[in-house]
Amino acid sequence: MEKKDVFRAWGRIASGYRPMLSVEITRECPLRCPGCYAYEPEHLGQIGPLRTLADYKGQSLVDGVLALVDRYRPIHLSIVGGEPLVRFRELDELLPRLSQMGINVQLVTSAVRPIPMHWGAIKNLQIVVSIDGLQPDHDRRRAPATYERILQNIQGHSITVHCTVTHQMAARANSFAEFLSFWSTQPDVRKIWFSLFTPQVGDAAEEVLSPQERSATLDELRRLRTAFTKLDLPIPVLEGYRRPPASPAECIFACTTLSITANLRSRITPCQFGGNPDCTQCGCMASAGLKAVGEHKLLGLLPLKSLYKASVRVGKTISAVRGRLEADSTERSSEGLISFR
Ligand code: SF4
Ligand code: SF4
Repeated sequence: MEKKDVFRAWGRIASGYRPMLSVEITRECPLRCPGCYAYEPEHLGQIGPLRTLADYKGQSLVDGVLALVDRYRPIHLSIVGGEPLVRFRELDELLPRLSQMGINVQLVTSAVRPIPMHWGAIKNLQIVVSIDGLQPDHDRRRAPATYERILQNIQGHSITVHCTVTHQMAARANSFAEFLSFWSTQPDVRKIWFSLFTPQVGDAAEEVLSPQERSATLDELRRLRTAFTKLDLPIPVLEGYRRPPASPAECIFACTTLSITANLRSRITPCQFGGNPDCTQCGCMASAGLKAVGEHKLLGLLPLKSLYKASVRVGKTISAVRGRLEADSTERSSEGLISFR
């Protein structure tokens, strides 16, 4: 999100809307990545496992996503899955229309199939490709979206590489430098992001970083920032990783993002991870970045999170009033309006 969008986002919060929307546009994915939160049984809670949901296709998916955008009016939309590229025909219609509406769109994919070449010309579209570790580990975890296939499928684009650091990667000497050396030299890669594996509370999965690994990873990435110019990891984000929000209620990202699953109706709570995520071990880049923004002091005095909380209070009031007006005038419920926690 650019600086001008931060002010737009603030305006949306103060008028009672969440400025960011994230939509799992499909339940389908040809991969079976270990540690994938989307297919964990607790991801959607009472709604049931992702693979059991109704899944939209064709014009009904296009219309359904546009209806969500019309209803919630986000300034930023993340399209995730499942694997969004299994619906590439629908995206071919949706992406240009979202661009025309002035919405910043982030498409998160494994790049398991070719990314249509003309998508590179769509304004405000950022294509983010998930790549988990060095080739042997990645190819084992994320087949059939192997390094070889990704390199073919991103040709001619300008993608962002997104690596989620797991214990397996953190425990291997020089893995970050090797990863950056490889992906930095790829002409189709514009920048490289790192986030950290975020477990559920009590999760004992192999991917979970120990506190020592987490700290050493952040030290190492800080050191590598100067050597690799494509590494996009601002110091405030690194500091945000060191001190994650204590709970979803303290997480500006979770409170300002509405996450919707593949039935285009149900919310994923408390954040995109769903279930009961361990905020104290959060590795979400957006959450870390917004935590850092919230702690920034305006004129050296007032933390921005105080202004944010005041804006939320104003937004809640406006949202409640709007809900009453809508209920009065249309006899509809206020389900579509945002109420902040
Ligand atoms: S590609 Fe993404 S959605 Fe599919 S299994 Fe892997 S992590 Fe999960
Ligand atoms: S994004 Fe991270 S800090 Fe925010 S609610 Fe989710 S797990 Fe917690």
